[in-house]
Amino acid sequence: MRAVVYQGARQVSVENVDDPTIEAPTDVVARVRLSSICGSDLYLYRGEAGDLAIPGRTSLGHELAGEVVEVGSNVSRFRVGDRITVPYSISCGTCFFCRAGQTAHCETTGKAIYGFGVGFGDMGGTQAEYVRIPLADAHAEPVPESITDEQALFLSCNLPAAVHAVSEVPLTGSSSVAVLGCGPTGLLAVQLLLRRGPAQLIALDEDPARLQQAEKLGAHPVSTSDGDPVEAVKELTSGRGVDAVVEFVGRGPAFTTAVGITRPGGTISGGGVYLEQDHPVSLFTMYLNNLRIQLNGFSNARTALWDALRLIETSAVDPTALVTHRLPLGDAAEAYRLFDTHDDGALKQVLQVP
Ligand SMILES: [Zn+2]
Ligand SMILES: [Zn+2]
Repeated sequence: MRAVVYQGARQVSVENVDDPTIEAPTDVVARVRLSSICGSDLYLYRGEAGDLAIPGRTSLGHELAGEVVEVGSNVSRFRVGDRITVPYSISCGTCFFCRAGQTAHCETTGKAIYGFGVGFGDMGGTQAEYVRIPLADAHAEPVPESITDEQALFLSCNLPAAVHAVSEVPLTGSSSVAVLGCGPTGLLAVQLLLRRGPAQLIALDEDPARLQQAEKLGAHPVSTSDGDPVEAVKELTSGRGVDAVVEFVGRGPAFTTAVGITRPGGTISGGGVYLEQDHPVSLFTMYLNNLRIQLNGFSNARTALWDALRLIETSAVDPTALVTHRLPLGDAAEAYRLFDTHDDGALKQVLQVP
């Protein structure tokens, strides 16, 4: 079969690799109908993930709308022909962490993630023609008829991550809240927060096109590349800072900005992915401001998937409005390039698998 394979920094190619097969009676094999590129794929794509991705070997992708083509003998929830999606991480449903809702930390799978290299189970990616889904009954999800393949893609990672990060924000009708980072997940967070009716919603990003999208949704845009965003947010909040920040950039400097724009007693809900081992942040500032910090970037997507499913089913959000490019799997290198550079207004990249 064909699969998107990492070849080195900013290089991916579509290669012929072995077809996945049933390896355990709890596996299913799915034909991929659609896949897509997540912001966290860019860490691997840019070569920022160290030894995690091995050139010529690591296949990529963790977002899936598929169809079951093979079923292990111990699988009861899926039959050949069923439409299927998966949360990005593979969980058993029965270990300590799964039962505690911390499904990304599953002890049985050792934090396995589709298409995320050797540090996370060395699993095949979903940017491929087929994918093996271990422990299918425990973590995969049948896609209801009411949900399209393109909508189902957002159940793997983006929407559960937004649901989870936003759920950590205490919010009343008088709250001011900021979303830092207006990529696909940040823009979903903007939509979810607006449904809860904050008095003020500020969106921050360096990309004017993404800020414009946030403004169209109803947020007040603040550029992080034009002037001091901390000063700009303080000006909008009587010098105090916002009550809560949802952070979706996932970089040390963005976390520093989050600390800078949060008022004393406020909350930072981090949905971003941080790879920096050491980033200087002022413990003194966080202490003096009594900040509440909850980092959810290593998202328990299985746990939040139910909410995400209902949000789409009830048309509370339609994440497919974020899709800017639909390209065949064979054009994956171009899809990655567009997403990486933001060229052509690139936001969500969908890969169509024939
Ligand atoms: Zn588990
Ligand atoms: Zn993701």
